[in-house]
Amino acid sequence: MGEFRLIDHLTAGFTLKNKSSVKGIGDDAAVIRIGKNMFVLSTDLLVEGIHFNLIYTPLKHLGYKAVVAGISDIYAMNARPMQITISVAVSNKISVESLEEFYSGIKVACERFKVDLIGGDTSSSITGMMISITAVGISPADKLVYRSGAGVNDLICVSGNLGAAYAGIQILERERRIFQSDKMIQPDLTGYDYVLERQLKPEARKDIIDLLEKTGILPTSMIDISDGLSSDLFHICKQSQAGCRIYMDKIPIDEETVKAARELNIEPVICALNGGEDYELLFTVPLSKSEIISSMKGITVIGHITGLDWGKKMVTSDGGEVELKAQGWNETV
Ligand code: ADP
Ligand code: MG
Repeated sequence: MGEFRLIDHLTAGFTLKNKSSVKGIGDDAAVIRIGKNMFVLSTDLLVEGIHFNLIYTPLKHLGYKAVVAGISDIYAMNARPMQITISVAVSNKISVESLEEFYSGIKVACERFKVDLIGGDTSSSITGMMISITAVGISPADKLVYRSGAGVNDLICVSGNLGAAYAGIQILERERRIFQSDKMIQPDLTGYDYVLERQLKPEARKDIIDLLEKTGILPTSMIDISDGLSSDLFHICKQSQAGCRIYMDKIPIDEETVKAARELNIEPVICALNGGEDYELLFTVPLSKSEIISSMKGITVIGHITGLDWGKKMVTSDGGEVELKAQGWNETV
C-alpha cells in the first residue's frame, strides 16, 4: 500500500466535528477558523536514512531545509507562515556542536522568511535522527487556495524549474557509493553546484506568492511540489475532480539538471515528473489570465486542466500522447 492510500485508509473513519475545522486531511495544510481569521497548519516529518543522510548533509543545511519543507506547505495554501515548532530526536552520536549547527540553519530560515520559532520537543533516539516541523500561517478566508479549485481550461503553471533536487541526490548517492567502496577516492562534486544546492538547501517560493499577490492573480488551485510533478498534479486533479494535459517540452528543467541526469542515465523529464523535493509551486489560473501569467518571470505554463473523462495526459516531444501515472507514465499511443 502506498503512502497516500495508507493515509486514506487510516483516516477514513474520521469526520470533522468542530465548526472551526474548515479543512482537515487532504490538502497541503489544514485550515482552522478562529474568529474572523483563518489559520493554516501543516506538519512534516524528516527521518534519517529516509529523508536525509548525515554522511553528506551539513546540519546547518538540514535545519534550513526542515523549515523550508514546513513553510512551503503554508505558501501552497496562499497563506503567510508566522510560527513554527521543531521537535528533534537525536542519538548520542550527534554532538551538541552539531545540534548548534542544525539550529543555526533553522535561525537563518526563520530570519529569511520572518517566522518565529515558538516551541518543540526534544528526545533521544536509538535509531537515528528524526525531525518534526509544524508550521502555522494566516490568511484572509477569501485568499486561501486549495487543491480542489481547478476548473476545465484553467492553465497549469509551475514556478522555477523541476528535477534538480532529484538529480542532486542521485549525484550525492553516486559519490557516497564510490567513497564507501574505496575510502581513498575523494568525492568529486565539482560542476554540480546548482543541483546540489537544490537538494541540500531548497527555497520556499515566498517570492512567487508575493508576485501573484502584486499582480492580483488568485490561483484556482495550488500545491507545492514535494513528491514530483506527476504525483502532485494528481493530487490537484483528484481533489478538483478533473483531468489534465501537459506538454513534455514545456516542463522547465535547468541545463545542469539535464547534464547530471544524462550522466546518470536518467531521462531528465523523469527527474521532473517523479523526483521530489523541488518545493516549487504548481498552480492553476483561469484561461483569461493567459497573457499576464505567460509574461511573468519564473513561471511556466505547462498545460491545462481538462474534464475528468479526458484522463491525465502528457503530450511528448514527438506529438504522441502518454498517460501520466502518479509515478511515471504508461505509453498509450
Ligand atoms: P505534503 O506532501 O503536502 O506534506 P502529505 O502528502 O504528507 O502532504 O499529506 C497529505 C494529507 O494527509 C495532509 O492533509 C496531511 O495532514 C495528511 N496526513 C498525512 N499523514 C497523516 C497521518 N498519519 N494521519 C493523519 N493525517 C495525515
Ligand atoms: Mg505540500
